[in-house]
Amino acid sequence: MSYDERVRDLYRQQLEEIRQAGLFKQERFIHSPQAAEIEVEFPAGAARKKVINICANNYLGLSSHPEVVRAAHEGLETRGYGMSSVRFICGTQDIHRELEQVVTDFLGTEDTILFPSCMDANAGVFEAILTKDDVMISDRLVHASIIDGMRLCSAEHDTYKHGDMDHLEKKLQQWKDKRLRVIINDGVYSMDGDAAKLDEIVRLAEAYDALVFVDDSHATGFIGPTGRGTAEKFGVMGKVDIITTTFGKALGGASGGCVSGRKEIVEMCRQRARPYLFSNAMAPVIVAGVLKAFEILKRSTELRDKLEENARYWRAGLTEAGFILKPGDTPIVPVMLFNAKLAQDFSRDLYEEGIYAVGFFFPVVAKGQARIRTQLSAAHEKHHLDRALEAFIKVGKKYDILGKSEEEIVARYGL
Ligand SMILES: *Cc1c(COP(=O)(O)O)cnc(C)c1O
Repeated sequence: MSYDERVRDLYRQQLEEIRQAGLFKQERFIHSPQAAEIEVEFPAGAARKKVINICANNYLGLSSHPEVVRAAHEGLETRGYGMSSVRFICGTQDIHRELEQVVTDFLGTEDTILFPSCMDANAGVFEAILTKDDVMISDRLVHASIIDGMRLCSAEHDTYKHGDMDHLEKKLQQWKDKRLRVIINDGVYSMDGDAAKLDEIVRLAEAYDALVFVDDSHATGFIGPTGRGTAEKFGVMGKVDIITTTFGKALGGASGGCVSGRKEIVEMCRQRARPYLFSNAMAPVIVAGVLKAFEILKRSTELRDKLEENARYWRAGLTEAGFILKPGDTPIVPVMLFNAKLAQDFSRDLYEEGIYAVGFFFPVVAKGQARIRTQLSAAHEKHHLDRALEAFIKVGKKYDILGKSEEEIVARYGL
């Protein structure tokens, strides 16, 4: 066998293993803008189908909002298409700095630095501010991009059990001799939809001289009474040292991210964070769109209020129908199916019914924790949710899981 054939063979084998395990992921092509209803081609080559989308991060319905689109057009006209530079060479326009100031003001922090994405913010921030004299203590369910960021950093790394404050306290005691301790959390956990107990985390941080880091990607713009995020929800605005977040979800959903917090930490990122130094500046058209998204949020809480009401309505409907949900009060509503194949079959049948919601399974969630993750949007109207609920119930009946316990579902379908 030639070298080329051996290499191909190696990966064909691995891909086959992924297929055999029922874990192969396939893209669906969307032929319309992101919205409550979208036009999808799936599988590739099949006729397009209009479906209700209940799995986007389009929390506030701003992805195709006419004002955001118009602002992006204006940004394109007045500041051009691309920067052709990283920020510190010739990639910083007035609107980049303006957006940083808007984010700072919105989050109630001291300063903000933009990154090409939140993944990049997380990849850059730890290495920029910590050394081997420090320790990062992260919740065990933090986002993959935080894990990658921690891997790039020479500081010691330890974890605490998800949401377990006693365990966190033990770890803080254990690492008391380190120069800096950083408690690292997601604000809202994307797979389970639960929030970090930031009030208790801040209290522990104060007691043990630790910094608090929160990735608020699934919170900025809609969690808390005015959408300022998890810190607002728990009454600790101004007490979180480092916030990272994305513009790729609620804030128009295009792309971009940031680190916001203590001004010295932000300045360290400007000097040292590698994705900031070595990856292109956010495109002006996106900066203009995000600026408009913030303007809409600051005008009124109408969108986040509607989202909250939609989430409450959806949770109540599914619960009454007999589905097992992860408990919580965020617009992330995981419908638990436990078995990976069941989650995929369920998703396929929903699609047949005109509902677009994908199954999540290992390695995105733990083995035996497969689910359909539904996500609500302010773009959903009641009639969308009612139609989606009808479809969930029809498919739920087909697989006979309504009103069944986890044990019963696992006994029938396996893990
Ligand atoms: C989506 C997400 C990211 C990645 O955001 P991008 O801007 O798309 O890179 C990072 N962290 C968390 C918690 C997320 O949910």
